[in-house]
Amino acid sequence: MTNAPTATPPIIEFPKSWTRRHLLDLESLDADEITTILDTAQQLKTLTNDCKSKLPLLVGKTCANLFFENSTRTRNSFSLAAKRLGADTVEFSSSGSSVAKGETFVDTAKTIEAMGVDWVVTRHSTPGTPHLLSRELKCSVLNAGDGPHDHPTQGLLDMLTIRQHRGSIKGLTVALVGDIAHSRTARSNIWGLSKLGANVIICGPPTLVSPRWAELGFEVAHHLDDILPRCDVLNLLRIQFERQKARPFPSVHEYAALYAMNGERMRKAKDDILIMAPGPINRGVEITPEVADGPHSVILEQVNNGIAVRMAALWLLAGANQTN
Ligand code: ASP
Repeated sequence: MTNAPTATPPIIEFPKSWTRRHLLDLESLDADEITTILDTAQQLKTLTNDCKSKLPLLVGKTCANLFFENSTRTRNSFSLAAKRLGADTVEFSSSGSSVAKGETFVDTAKTIEAMGVDWVVTRHSTPGTPHLLSRELKCSVLNAGDGPHDHPTQGLLDMLTIRQHRGSIKGLTVALVGDIAHSRTARSNIWGLSKLGANVIICGPPTLVSPRWAELGFEVAHHLDDILPRCDVLNLLRIQFERQKARPFPSVHEYAALYAMNGERMRKAKDDILIMAPGPINRGVEITPEVADGPHSVILEQVNNGIAVRMAALWLLAGANQTN
């Protein structure tokens, strides 16, 4: 017997291959980087008892949420993710701020950064704003949605949810259904899922699906009923009326008749189909209550996984800042 002290193993090992300081989109990440975030999120979810308890990995650091658009899930789960790992948070909303006095977006962000923050999480209606901030600020920048462009943590939490149910994403047929043209969730999922080997189907009215997707090699469908029996996962996207300049279909009733996931369509789907939605859901438009609240729906699991993925992103970016 020896009384020599034994070294405490680290609670979680930092992945040596991780070097990114910002999380701006999924298009620029490779499959290994996406897998690293998902693996880290899964570990952190387990270590925090399903994202409910605290793990002091980021004590002394501060996360600023700079939101220039509405948010329920993303803003609150970024805050909770930071707090679960022991960091402090600063909550900024454009309404009631000096933006109303004419301050620019970059000046506002630099002002918040000067208060000593380690990450700026930003949501803005203009595509590319997080990319701009990543050049202007010294701290890490995370994109929480830039207009219709990208929403990387949404794509990641969707993939984490699929992986938890199916073990792997490779080979699955995943359809993104609805307002592809205005959905940043669609774009994040399209890039992320295809990099991990899923067969991605892009489905919606011709007015809401650019023909470019087919030119890029993706399967495009305009009738949900044609593809439904083949799908392992459906991700039902909200019609983003707030981003549309012209009405893309005659009526919500007609949209729902062609694209809403309802009880009748569920009977034509695979027995183990996963029903997902990024939220907020519009009941009766893209999904009926019996499907949203039914046994195939993983919508609230997606919400919980949002905390896991955001904990992983904050921790990985902070680690890259220390090693770079
Ligand atoms: N919450 C998601 C987003 O911010 C989806 C949506 O708004 O429909 O993009």
